[in-house]
Amino acid sequence: MNADDLIAGSPDHEPIPARRVSPLIEHAPLPMVEVEGTLHLVAVANPAFCRLLQKTREEIIGQPFAALVENGEQCAALLDRVYATGEAETQMMTDDAPAKPSYWLYAMWPSLGADRQPARVVIQLTKSNRFYQDLAAMNEALLISSVRQHELAAESEKSNLLSQGEIAHRTATEGALREVNEKLRKATGVAEKANRAKDDFLAVLSHELRTPLTPVLIAAAALREDSRLPRETREQLSMIERNISLEARLIDDLLDLTKISHGKLLLRLEPCDAHSLIGLAIEIVRDDAREKEITIERQFSAVHSGLTADPARLQQVVWNLLRNAVKFTPRGGTISVRTADESRLEGGGWLRIEVTDSGIGIDPGALEKIFLPFEQGQVTGDHRFGGMGLGLAIARAVVLMHGGQIAAESAGANQGATFVVELPGAVVPTQGVTESAVPFFGPARLIPEKPPLTLLVVEDHLATLKALARLLRNDGHQVVTASSLAEALAAAAAQPFDLVISDLGLPDGTGTEMMEQLRSKYGLRGIALSGYGMEEDFARSTAAGFVTHLIKPVAIADLRRVLSALSR
Ligand code: ADP
Repeated sequence: MNADDLIAGSPDHEPIPARRVSPLIEHAPLPMVEVEGTLHLVAVANPAFCRLLQKTREEIIGQPFAALVENGEQCAALLDRVYATGEAETQMMTDDAPAKPSYWLYAMWPSLGADRQPARVVIQLTKSNRFYQDLAAMNEALLISSVRQHELAAESEKSNLLSQGEIAHRTATEGALREVNEKLRKATGVAEKANRAKDDFLAVLSHELRTPLTPVLIAAAALREDSRLPRETREQLSMIERNISLEARLIDDLLDLTKISHGKLLLRLEPCDAHSLIGLAIEIVRDDAREKEITIERQFSAVHSGLTADPARLQQVVWNLLRNAVKFTPRGGTISVRTADESRLEGGGWLRIEVTDSGIGIDPGALEKIFLPFEQGQVTGDHRFGGMGLGLAIARAVVLMHGGQIAAESAGANQGATFVVELPGAVVPTQGVTESAVPFFGPARLIPEKPPLTLLVVEDHLATLKALARLLRNDGHQVVTASSLAEALAAAAAQPFDLVISDLGLPDGTGTEMMEQLRSKYGLRGIALSGYGMEEDFARSTAAGFVTHLIKPVAIADLRRVLSALSR
């Protein structure tokens, strides 16, 4: 190399004099050589290149470059090109070791002679296995990801198809639903009118069924209390009274069911003690149980027996369960009524009420069915036990309305049955709530001492009017009777009364019209007696000024209790 020779730079750099290049090659950390001539004989080799070939400088200098390195042929061709073009070249080459190939990066650029033509070529080598591994890994990753991409594409195509199917299905379902709703909407104007008609029919029917029961019930109750009658006669009278009450109950069940199915059953919530209500329900079935020599055991273990509930309805639930237990348990059997505290996450404390009997049991397949209206567990056509299959349906509705649960358990035929009622919000009962629990019906109670009242009794059903008047007179009250609105107004104008007891349907007007007038003219208070027991009937009579509304056939005990309360 001449002192004036230049090393060609990259296109961005001016060539530099060769004399400045030799020390640079000598000290470079990477293997570098300079070759000359068409055979590319090594003219300069640095120590790094000698180390790479594991040869001395003497063994290298003067040798054709192609003979010293792997990929000699490729290198020779590349060097020829650099000489021909005068342009720098870089190329990656690999050796042929298949298990662990090495990668060589060759950078070659010409050094120019005084004529500015390539005179020699400087070569720099970089061996990079790491680069290769990275590359291989990258390739592999690329390959895997492209395969995965294909799979994903196939999967997404599949799920696309599925969701398209799903969307189509939903659209079809929504369409069908819309259609059904539309039909229902149209029909409802008609499944609503019919419903109202059914409601009205049931209300009228129950009114008509109750009305004739009232005088019988009142007369039987009054006579049963007459100590001059022989004991057998009084026993027969109490049987008549019991059966009339039962019939009235069936009518009430029908009405309750109508209210439930129209969401019109309202709860009158108040603090009450479940143990007292259960006790009252036990009292009601005690006579029937005694007749069948059935023992009723009670085990009230719950500490939290205080509930905010409708006491009459809750008593009705327990009474239904007890009534069934007595009905479906053969002579000499046992019924146990147990209560226990239950702790659950939701609803605070829960109260568990269990009614277990040793009776005919329930087929496992019927355990759910029996809670449906008009469903009975026994074989179709077996009317041995009577009933309409309404008691449990009503009990379930009432329990659900209290936020609770009810279920039946039985190991099968003749294995007895257990009914479990669970109610939320149970607390330790407050003192005195027991007294507020009013039984919704029950055996006649002792008549409380009370001052006699002057009563105006208005009723167009003459048998009822007579029986009621006789009973009230027997109790010591002064009674004036009227059988129409006009007669009642005339009687009220003629003398003062403490109270008016009136039917609501009168031949020349309504009891509510009459009450409004009597209240505004004379400040009179009244008790409504009606065969109509729907919520709206209660609301109407309260609005007219009646203090209370008793449903026919009126239980004498209830009427006496109300009279006694109002007279104080
Ligand atoms: P009903 O007693 O008027 O038939 P319920 O709704 O009270 O109506 O009861 C429905 C049915 O559940 C009954 O007919 C009877 O098959 C079954 N059942 C209820 N309680 C018992 C019980 N304690 N033991 C056996 N079966 C019962």
